[in-house]
Amino acid sequence: MIIGEQKALDEIVAMVEKEGGGRILVAGCRSCVAVCLAGGEDEVEQLAGSLREHSEERSLGWELRTVTLQRQCERSFDEAIADLVEWSDVLVSLGCGVGAQVLSEVYPDRVVLPGIDTSSMGAPDGRGKWKERCAGCGDCTVHLSGGICPIARCSKMLQNGPCGGSQGGKCETSPDRDCAWQLIYDHLRAKGRLDLLETPLPPKDWSRSRDGGPRTVVKGGGSGR
Ligand code: SF4
Ligand code: SF4
Repeated sequence: MIIGEQKALDEIVAMVEKEGGGRILVAGCRSCVAVCLAGGEDEVEQLAGSLREHSEERSLGWELRTVTLQRQCERSFDEAIADLVEWSDVLVSLGCGVGAQVLSEVYPDRVVLPGIDTSSMGAPDGRGKWKERCAGCGDCTVHLSGGICPIARCSKMLQNGPCGGSQGGKCETSPDRDCAWQLIYDHLRAKGRLDLLETPLPPKDWSRSRDGGPRTVVKGGGSGR
């Protein structure tokens, strides 16, 4: 899932004020950002309530409406809210960065304000906590590293063993962060596959990663840039 965090209210208010306020539509998403409690129905209503309160305290006259789409990253869902968008002066997206961009594409005459800072692809890790798990390198090799991704989970993206800073199972960048290579070793040992460490991973094909420019995936062939 895509992980994101709602921006601070002050930041969102400043963006809305810069656009002149007026009729404000807060648009959330029921998918990933709802799961990470950043942009689902509850968060949309809370943000709208806070903006309404801000407006009332300062007699700004803002009007607020809300909508939460099934998936803000799909045009068809965005197109279905044309009436609401037509009503609004300002659109605040509580979708991820993808959702905000697609909403903006569907309504090119509107400025879509991003209410969420999108950080990564990851998974829940206990209550109210999500951790990065994949960096979308386009060349997945997790079967060779115990099911642990060294690109997303090692601070230095090391592919063939730990750096010299690994201590007590923790990463040198933070005592609160597990060393990915300790995890990889532990997982491979538990699977009885420490032999995999004897064969160095080949150089990553970075041409398939984000570094080579935005990628396109086409089902049935033709994937590329
Ligand atoms: S190896 Fe690449 S595709 Fe696989 S989990 Fe890591 S970053 Fe994601
Ligand atoms: S301590 Fe471990 S996780 Fe941290 S940078 Fe070194 S190898 Fe990577």
